[in-house]
Amino acid sequence: MKTKKKYVKHDSFVGLLSLQDSGDLFDLDRLKEICYNEKYIAKLELNLLKAFKRAREDLFEGSSNSAKFKLKKNVIEEIKTIQKNDIPRYLAHRYRYEIYPQTNELDQYPPYLQIEPSSVCNFRCVFCYQTDLDFTRKSNGFMGKMTVELFKDIIDQVETNVEFISLASRGEPLLCPKIDQMLEYTTDKFLNLKINTNASLLTEKNCHALLNSGIKTVVFSADAADENLYSKYRVNGNLNKVLKNIETFKEIKERHYSDKKLITRVSGVKVSEDQKMEDMEKLWGGLVDQVAFVDYVPWENVYDAPMSEITQPCSDLWRRMFIWWDGKINPCDVDYRSQLSSGNINNNTIDKLWQSNEYNQIRSNHLDNKRKDSSPCNKCVVV
Ligand code: SF4
Repeated sequence: MKTKKKYVKHDSFVGLLSLQDSGDLFDLDRLKEICYNEKYIAKLELNLLKAFKRAREDLFEGSSNSAKFKLKKNVIEEIKTIQKNDIPRYLAHRYRYEIYPQTNELDQYPPYLQIEPSSVCNFRCVFCYQTDLDFTRKSNGFMGKMTVELFKDIIDQVETNVEFISLASRGEPLLCPKIDQMLEYTTDKFLNLKINTNASLLTEKNCHALLNSGIKTVVFSADAADENLYSKYRVNGNLNKVLKNIETFKEIKERHYSDKKLITRVSGVKVSEDQKMEDMEKLWGGLVDQVAFVDYVPWENVYDAPMSEITQPCSDLWRRMFIWWDGKINPCDVDYRSQLSSGNINNNTIDKLWQSNEYNQIRSNHLDNKRKDSSPCNKCVVV
């Protein structure tokens, strides 16, 4: 796998294909009408109103802002799943997620939260830190699964404050024994809740749990359309099994949850030219709504990487906050051993941790061209 000189995080899709034509065309004039209707925006809190108005200006008023908000294909697909009175709120949060990391702005809560139900994984994908034995060795303390109590506390803190959340990080979320209870607790709470799974452990029971929950996007991780290539990258994985599980998910959705507005996506990490979008389309067409490739970041071991020459700030410091299974927070999962961690939600609240002096110190280092003072940012290529 080729090491990159720079990884631009805000543009990580190297391809996204919509496979299901719902016939539901996107009406930009209708969106504009909603965005200028006071009744839909009156309830936005001040910080969201500010973000929403800037998004609206970029979309409809020909603004001259340097970082411009656009409706990308995946955003349009998400808007189609949202009720019209929630659209301004969605756009405000989407704006915070896309633009604040580029303009290095911060408000009370992270634009995006990644909650890790499990750091344990049953796969050993070649591009992943799960191949680092120092990480997976039980005695080193990185492996574990979140309790339902901690999960509920996180959800209670972020409900109405953060709308963009992923249930996934360093491990496979379906390995968490309490995942069904966790999913149930998210029902009707978020505008953009996502889960990433390798789909190898998808049973009928957790298909129902997913479809009954507040999940709006299910991402099935798969990088290839033939068994040889798939198992070369997804070590321990079996493409036929994953394919069958995703078929089961689709059948259950169609039979029992036909009205549910949910996006399904097969997403792979693009590590070689052998992975072709047309092959993915052929295999997954008819089974999921979207197929995507994301660019490869050298996740597998940043600590042994050579020093990076990048001085540009890392946008993830203004974009995401990760909460590991044990409550520890971290700015990213490139630093999977949490050297940058600045606290634990067992001792502090999410908003305070997001704006803490320790977290801000890392941000200042990056803004002052002193990225080399934070490890492992000094070896990382993400901007
Ligand atoms: S290690 Fe530092 S530079 Fe790399 S993604 Fe994490 S916060 Fe950003």
